Amino acid sequence: MLDLSRIKLFEDTPRKPNELHISTLCYCPRKEFFSYFFKPAIQVLRDDVLAGKYIHRIIQDQLEQMGYKVEVEVSLDLKDNFKLVGRIDAANPDHIVEIKTVRELYSPVLIQWILQVNTYMHITGIKKAILLIVERQTGEIHQREIEYDSNKAEEVLNLAEEVIKAIKMKDFSHLPKCQDNRCKYCSFEMFCRKA
Ligand code: SF4
Repeated sequence: MLDLSRIKLFEDTPRKPNELHISTLCYCPRKEFFSYFFKPAIQVLRDDVLAGKYIHRIIQDQLEQMGYKVEVEVSLDLKDNFKLVGRIDAANPDHIVEIKTVRELYSPVLIQWILQVNTYMHITGIKKAILLIVERQTGEIHQREIEYDSNKAEEVLNLAEEVIKAIKMKDFSHLPKCQDNRCKYCSFEMFCRKA
């Protein structure tokens, strides 16, 4: 008989304890909850994800040559010894830059992007963000300027508190679900749909 206890779809996360990741939290608080404890045993990088990483590197190299700092680490202390951590794609004293790659250039600016850049602006005190939206197929780039909105940053801080509560109780059922395209590619969907 096959010993099923030796087959694992998920492993313990390699993450540092008490850290919440801004990008995942803004993407989906439930996903941040699951990622805090687990990671998929094998991570298969889809072609579009690989292309996205490659495009990031190309643009970041060029921004660095233009005087931007890249991969800028930020963190913010939260309650119960937790902290929010993240890495901004690029920044100078006037604005931050976040690179997003998309299938079609004229798709809408996503709420998770707005939340993410507002959190970075809140932490750094820089009041302007530029979203560089790149169409993966063509390399065409569109830029959108976003002014700091403290309400959006506040929304993320409230979500972080909810996720901390969920982590401490090991119960994600009260966290909001996305119920949109994000769930389609989420590794945790099989757990998430149960509550
Ligand atoms: S399935 Fe959807 S709601 Fe659940 S964790 Fe994933 S993205 Fe979030």
